[in-house]
Amino acid sequence: MWNLRDISIRTKLTILIVSISSVSLLLASIAFITSDRINTQQTVSDNLGTMADIIAANSSAALLFSDPVAAQETLSFLNSQQHIQAAAIYDSDEKEFAHYIQPGLNLDLPASDLQNENILFWSDYVELYTRIFYEGDLIGFIYLRSDMEAIHDRLVMFLGIVAIVLLASLLVTFVLGAQLQRIITDPLLRLSAIARQVSTGKNYSVRVIGEGKDELGNLITDFNTMLDEIQSRDNELREHRLRLEERVTQRTRELESANALLELSKEQAESVANRMEYHAHHDALTGLPNRILLNDRITSELAHARRQQTNAALLFLDLDRFKIINDSLGHAVGDQLLRVISRRLNNCVREEDTVARLGGDEFMVLLPRISGSADAGRIAKKIIECLVDPISCNGHELHITTSIGISIFPYDGTDAETLIKHADISMYRAKELGRNKAIYYTAEMNAGSRKQLAMETNLRKAVERNQLRLFYQPKVDINRNMIVGVEALLRWKHPTMGFISPLDFIPVAEDSGLIIPIGEWVLNTAFRQLKQWHNTGFTGLTVAVNLSSAQLSRPGFEDVVAQALGEAGLDARMTELEVTENVAMENIDSAITVLDRLKCMGISIAMDDFGTGYSSLNYLRRLPIDIVKIDKSFVSEIPDSTDDVTIAQAIIAMAQSLKLSLVVEGVENVRQLNFFRQQGVNIVQGYLFSKPVPASELLRMLEAQNVPGTVNLVK
Ligand code: C2E
Ligand code: MG
Ligand code: MG
Repeated sequence: MWNLRDISIRTKLTILIVSISSVSLLLASIAFITSDRINTQQTVSDNLGTMADIIAANSSAALLFSDPVAAQETLSFLNSQQHIQAAAIYDSDEKEFAHYIQPGLNLDLPASDLQNENILFWSDYVELYTRIFYEGDLIGFIYLRSDMEAIHDRLVMFLGIVAIVLLASLLVTFVLGAQLQRIITDPLLRLSAIARQVSTGKNYSVRVIGEGKDELGNLITDFNTMLDEIQSRDNELREHRLRLEERVTQRTRELESANALLELSKEQAESVANRMEYHAHHDALTGLPNRILLNDRITSELAHARRQQTNAALLFLDLDRFKIINDSLGHAVGDQLLRVISRRLNNCVREEDTVARLGGDEFMVLLPRISGSADAGRIAKKIIECLVDPISCNGHELHITTSIGISIFPYDGTDAETLIKHADISMYRAKELGRNKAIYYTAEMNAGSRKQLAMETNLRKAVERNQLRLFYQPKVDINRNMIVGVEALLRWKHPTMGFISPLDFIPVAEDSGLIIPIGEWVLNTAFRQLKQWHNTGFTGLTVAVNLSSAQLSRPGFEDVVAQALGEAGLDARMTELEVTENVAMENIDSAITVLDRLKCMGISIAMDDFGTGYSSLNYLRRLPIDIVKIDKSFVSEIPDSTDDVTIAQAIIAMAQSLKLSLVVEGVENVRQLNFFRQQGVNIVQGYLFSKPVPASELLRMLEAQNVPGTVNLVK
């Protein structure tokens, strides 16, 4: 349906202007025509009046003298008046006196009611009633009737003119309106066109032209201001977006390069991992499988042998007198020799066999799926034979032999560890029996001291391979809050068994005599270490070294100590030697002599683990003791155990009365510390402050004087 709202504002304005103009013109025309009609009626009325006056004047005499013919003559001039339709003269009694009716018309003349002067306009004629006076006396009446032709013609003419003028005006109004409405619509259209351009093209730089001061001008100004604002926001937004895009591009580039790097490092990591994997499982010198890979293979071969119920054998090889070659001709020759031997070993076994190097001059051969023990013996013999030919290294003709221990699955063990251990034991037996031999493991070899033997074997290797270490546990002066000394404690880190307690291996070392070289090594190492700390500035520090009875009873022990002191360049007064009561008591007389000599040199003697051995006050008095160390077994229950409190108090009282220094070991908590502090003990050792630690860590503690469990230890 046609809707006014849907038509354009231009058309609306044009319609508005034309409508208003039309209404105005119409009203004006109506007023004009009305006024003209009134004027015309007045003119008609005047004319009829004048005509009546003439008739009255000319007919007065006729009326006075009752001459109707004269009156009739007077009316005869009306023949020339086209518009007069009828006329009549009446005497004072309203009796018709003379009359005139236009020829051709059939009209009735009024016969009464002539008294009132009047003019009556009818639709197509006009009637005039008037009176005739002579010298003030009413002598008659006149009636005139005229047609409306003239008025109608004039009206038609005026209507025609008005119609033409109206049409012309409307045309002009339309043309002018169409032009004038542009004053309003043009800015609006410009505004809307720009708004559309902005909304569709997102072009905020365009502006609406027109700066009038009217509402439209204000609207345009406001619109342009709004566009300024939007444009500046848009610019900001665009800049922001550009910056964002730049950053995204940059980040993408960075990510790409990071990705590339990652890819590269992944490849590198993979190749490193592969290399590491290889190195983790192979011996660097010979390229043979190492202990780890060998263990894996043994485990899987044993599983296979178990399922298939077959035999497998392990050959433990140790080259005879290799150390001599290595020491005399140098490591380069030794390494070359090991490489040649590795090749020879590999050549004389089957493909499915594994030749592994365990380290040093030790090799192991895994023989899976053998039909019986004799096979292992045959291969061992073959190995011995393949080493018969001399090996030339760096111009040297070297003759090398090997001792082989053989263990057979499942007779000599059902797991890798046992088989290796038994092969190792039998290899030592082969050495004992004159070397260059292969010996089967027998149960007798194990009898009695199997663990001892293995431990001894291992310890011997540990000494050769420098697997022993010294750790140091600080002794703290709790009054001064500082480390005043350290106790050197042996540590053995076995490559597969981990840390072995000195409580386990010291007895073995003592039984096997290994304690002599080990003890010397401890003295030398501890003294040299102390000297290093002195050189670093910790000149007040002392070191305590534990002694075993074998060392103490060995002739010339004092010389060993003196030599160690001399080599380290150490003042003897900065050293302590710790002996347990049992050590001292084993040969009390010689112990007293040796300890006396040591004391004379300036060394302090400490009675270790006091209270756990043959505690005899008599002996204690005889021994040249400077320090008593309360054993940790009395400390652990303090202060809760009244027995231990009493024993500790007794030992402290005894030491004080004999004027001996006191060290409490094994202090693990603050309650124990407070107890001994109250008892007047100065020097304390225990986990509360620190466990035994490597020298490097102790140096850090000395430097920081930060002993865990204490506060404000100052250097
Ligand atoms: P020891 O001489 O009585 O050494 C003190 C032992 O107590 C050390 O054990 C030490 O680690 C431990 N200890 C220290 N503080 C605490 C504590 O707060 N709580 C507890 N539960 N234990 C603590 P380690 O190092 O195992 O040494 C054990 C023994 O082995 C030593 O007893 C000593 O008799 C002997 N030993 C250690 N090194 C040597 C050495 O070089 N030569 C000789 N002949 N014997 C040594
Ligand atoms: Mg000790
Ligand atoms: Mg002790």
